[in-house]
Amino acid sequence: MQGHPWVFGNEVGEIDGPVNAGDIVDVFTHQGHFVGRGYINPQSQILVRLLTRDKSEEINDEFFYRRLLKCWEYRKKIGYVENCRLVFGEADEMPALIIDKFNDYLVIQTLALGMDKWKGAIVDALNRIFSPKGIYERNDVPVRELEGLEQQKGFLSAPFDTNVIINENGLKFHVDIVNGQKTGYFLDQQDNRRAIQHIVKGADVLEAFCYTGTFSCHAGYYGAKSVMGLDISEHAVNTARRNAELNNLQDICKFQAVNAFDQLKQWTREEKKFDVVILDPPAFTKSRENIQKAITGYKEINLRGMKLLKPGGFLVTASCTNLVPPSLFLEIIDMAAKDAKKKLRQVTFQTQAQDHPILWNIENTTYLKFLIVEVQ
Ligand code: SAH
Repeated sequence: MQGHPWVFGNEVGEIDGPVNAGDIVDVFTHQGHFVGRGYINPQSQILVRLLTRDKSEEINDEFFYRRLLKCWEYRKKIGYVENCRLVFGEADEMPALIIDKFNDYLVIQTLALGMDKWKGAIVDALNRIFSPKGIYERNDVPVRELEGLEQQKGFLSAPFDTNVIINENGLKFHVDIVNGQKTGYFLDQQDNRRAIQHIVKGADVLEAFCYTGTFSCHAGYYGAKSVMGLDISEHAVNTARRNAELNNLQDICKFQAVNAFDQLKQWTREEKKFDVVILDPPAFTKSRENIQKAITGYKEINLRGMKLLKPGGFLVTASCTNLVPPSLFLEIIDMAAKDAKKKLRQVTFQTQAQDHPILWNIENTTYLKFLIVEVQ
């Protein structure tokens, strides 16, 4: 697994022979040494994404079966079985492939043309390994257009009831695999949700950017006195309410569909205070050129969160974009604390759940930052 699996167009001297987008090709150094085998797309800046560095390994249906089995064996080994990210793209040597498993259901994304071409083989392999109750495609992702692919979603198995319910940390959650964000549910926070267990006991909790209320429900379950979850999406808030009901937490966990920036500003003016504030905002930017936008957004929302805390309260704060590395994230939180005239004491600093493996040589595999600080 040495080296980065992406080969950029400007790194390639010549393409030997005619190729079609999506073809499997071999990559050699200028000296003629074999580098690896992968799929090509001349339309993409990433010309080739390597699937293997083993010259004797053929890329065929059996290859995908073997690789998916390997992904599954790994998840079982580290204890992520019922719900897990089964395939995390490059970190599983499966560039541009995402597969989430929600108990007996699988949701898949093929985000590059060369991977998309093997969708049939991937689905066959999943059927062989899991005999799942259903497979669904969530390829309604704009990045596919850079590859010349259409956005699409739908069944890759016989149609099934898509309102899936999963168990997590002793709670139940609805997963809307058709209309939810990304694959329907953020499995990457599944371990971090447990990290709030002790600090929310007896607490008044605010969660901004709550999506389907998963942290809020955990807070209620772990003994919070009251929980208020905010999200700009009506659909997310409706699901959050249904999740609270599913766990019999509807008296403790309340939700509002509002802009968190505005609501936090208003509550700061009203001097409203909470014991715990949880923030898990969206990426704010998708490109390195706009990184300042993300920095400003994270700083502002964390500043507001800190101001809403009682002295000695806890800020639980996350960032999901790989464009903000962990060190920069901590700097942003530090800047916010200085502006808010607060002192911080770190409780924990974590990353994504272990079923989203990190490869040190592929920097965008470390993407989730999750921090808990005590705020004085
Ligand atoms: N913590 C959640 C994931 C949050 S994703 C979980 O673990 O499941 C980020 C959420 O922020 C999305 O649901 C999105 O709808 C919401 N969002 C984006 N901009 C917002 C804004 N200005 N105010 C409130 N919510 C916003």
